[in-house]
Amino acid sequence: MPNEEAKIATDEEIATAAEVILRAHYPIALTGAGMSVESGIPPFRGPGGLWTKYGEPPMNQFQRFMENPKKAWEERMSRQNDELFKPLKVAKPNPGHTALAELEAMGILRFVITQNVDDLHRQAGQKALAEIHGNWKLMRCLDCTSRFGSEEISLEVLPPKCPKCGGMVKNDTVSFGEPIPTDVLLRCQDHSARADLVIVAGTSATVYPAAGFAIEVKQRGGVLVEVNLYESEITAYCNVSLRGGSANVLPRLTKAISERRRAKLS
Ligand SMILES: [Zn+2]
Repeated sequence: MPNEEAKIATDEEIATAAEVILRAHYPIALTGAGMSVESGIPPFRGPGGLWTKYGEPPMNQFQRFMENPKKAWEERMSRQNDELFKPLKVAKPNPGHTALAELEAMGILRFVITQNVDDLHRQAGQKALAEIHGNWKLMRCLDCTSRFGSEEISLEVLPPKCPKCGGMVKNDTVSFGEPIPTDVLLRCQDHSARADLVIVAGTSATVYPAAGFAIEVKQRGGVLVEVNLYESEITAYCNVSLRGGSANVLPRLTKAISERRRAKLS
């Protein structure tokens, strides 16, 4: 709980986690808002949250989009310079993002499922990545699920049309009431079915379907390694709990894994 004095994982605990990860055949990671917060992006809910300040989107946001996509696009474009987008525009990957990308480059981490829309895993160089709630910088065709950068789509006529199939284009961030895009969901299912370990970082993993991927691996006999400031609902499922922020713990973990692996190879 936020009032509890923050503990930081000891080197011994980090070493234990490193050993466990090195023994796994197919480690993946599940990340959430805690990692964004450490890059200066406020959470959506709670005191100081973006939605607390600027209003929560309506629960039928996707339905509204589908009813009048032109109006939804016009509203979205008129809000581009809102304070709401400022933290996303200036945020940079933190050492936690970089550590996960390094773990992937080392051939250890196979896949990252993130609930964050902030683009920071990509900016850190993560290649095998599923952004389960979309990416705020991208647009997506609702028909063929192709993703586009802002420079690839003309916004002269709204709603914009997909250059590939002519389908309707929406912002990629998954709206309230919108199903998770099937291509992302299938990739998550594919990798979590192969996974025997999940690093759960910066999330209490209570939001489905993301939480389900970690729980499912655990139920199959897999291992959960938690990296979070505080205990949460997922803690009871975790084999190893590392307290502390991702920006502190993940670089230490990656370093410990790298050193151990080198020692074993030599
Ligand atoms: Zn398309």
